[in-house]
Amino acid sequence: MAPGREVLTGTTIAVVDGRIAALGTAETLRGRYPGATELDATGCVVTPGMINAHQHTTADPLTRSGIPDDIDAQSAIFDWAVPLHNAHTGGDDEISAMLTGAESLRRGVTTIIEPGTVAHPMRVAAGLRKTGIRARLNGWGWDTEGLPFSAPAAEVLARQEEIVTELGTTGRIAAWITLLGHDLVSDALMQGAAELAERLDTRMTWHISPGQNDIPGYAERSGNRPVVHMHKIGVLGPRLLLGHAVWLDDDEVDAIVETDTAVASSPGAYLRLGQGFTRANRHVALIRRGARIALGCDSHNANDVPDILRAAMLFTGLSLDRGDENPVHAHEALALATIDGARAIGLGEEIGSIEVGKAADLVVFDTSDPVWTPRGDEALQLVWGAPSHTVRDVVVDGEIVVRDQELQNVDYDDLRQCAAENSHHLLRRTGITPFRRWPRIAAADLEATSGGPAAPGAEHRAAGKTGESACP
Ligand SMILES: [Zn+2]
Repeated sequence: MAPGREVLTGTTIAVVDGRIAALGTAETLRGRYPGATELDATGCVVTPGMINAHQHTTADPLTRSGIPDDIDAQSAIFDWAVPLHNAHTGGDDEISAMLTGAESLRRGVTTIIEPGTVAHPMRVAAGLRKTGIRARLNGWGWDTEGLPFSAPAAEVLARQEEIVTELGTTGRIAAWITLLGHDLVSDALMQGAAELAERLDTRMTWHISPGQNDIPGYAERSGNRPVVHMHKIGVLGPRLLLGHAVWLDDDEVDAIVETDTAVASSPGAYLRLGQGFTRANRHVALIRRGARIALGCDSHNANDVPDILRAAMLFTGLSLDRGDENPVHAHEALALATIDGARAIGLGEEIGSIEVGKAADLVVFDTSDPVWTPRGDEALQLVWGAPSHTVRDVVVDGEIVVRDQELQNVDYDDLRQCAAENSHHLLRRTGITPFRRWPRIAAADLEATSGGPAAPGAEHRAAGKTGESACP
């Protein structure tokens, strides 16, 4: 994904202090770096780590596939997701962030931007750090009265500044300024966030117009479309990553291009929530006008899996199917998942391509799987071939965090156990019953109904282990 888009064959990558130090033949580099630890990727495809610019890490992972898919987006968010977020403990936040980090890495995603629905940012930072993923995050930021975690603008900004001070702005885990956006933040909060991001030299993100619901609020507030309003109050600019920005008019597209504002597109979520991406989408038009666009996967219950190659496939397919004048193809979508995504989040000089001097964020695909047999054009195979299950090893900052499909820093059995346990308690606290459309019948009941022998002592057993919990 370097500017020439060369596919380097038979190439060895030398990594020193977490950075790509040299590219060449194994023989030459063994001579230059004698005794170096080796990760044998013979016959494999190696790509830069993928970038997911819009990935919620909490609440949804503990209620995976538990929100129905035939309700509107407002109901999915305010009747289901927000109450779950509101009941999250610090331990829930840490466990669900670990789950998100773990499954992202297993699918070759090495960098995520958490869009700010986090009750306990330091616990999420701790959970993500344990997995080894690169991430940017902060906490809830909205100032509409009566909503969970809402506070006056000054208080929201003070909380966010505290997290930036704690986490810094440049490490593997670092802080952005994260507002909820939509029509749920005041002008004062957006303007304060823009000033804060400038002063602390960090970036910011918020949601706008995934569907049409945000538009009337801004019409009432100022008589303008949402992004035009943001332009008028001076908060657009290269430090801002807008989550979604799907429903835009021409003036809003102009404002984004003129101000070099970035956009994170999460096509899977727009499809799952039925938000009208195929009708309204201007993302390809933005790309053609030079805007910085990244891909995202949004939340688990909006898209179900943080798999950026799947997002790339959907983005490409929808562009082709819509009959865009100059549609995006797989090679461009792979760039959105890597180098262009990196540019959109301000890390274009650091990650997104395999070039000397960049951080060693690498994904090794095992090409012995049928999906790679025989080998074709790499970008076509990566985007259309759905090869995420063949991610074998993942390297972040030169550290091997997944090896032979095993997370190196996380005990997955413990994580799975805690996810089940924390999920059980979270649902009990909120009184929410996960959606199940079809009846569930225990085998013992099945046998009783069909006249077969019922197992002695068979009964419904509560999930989870007994005794003292070791989960956070
Ligand atoms: Zn979101």
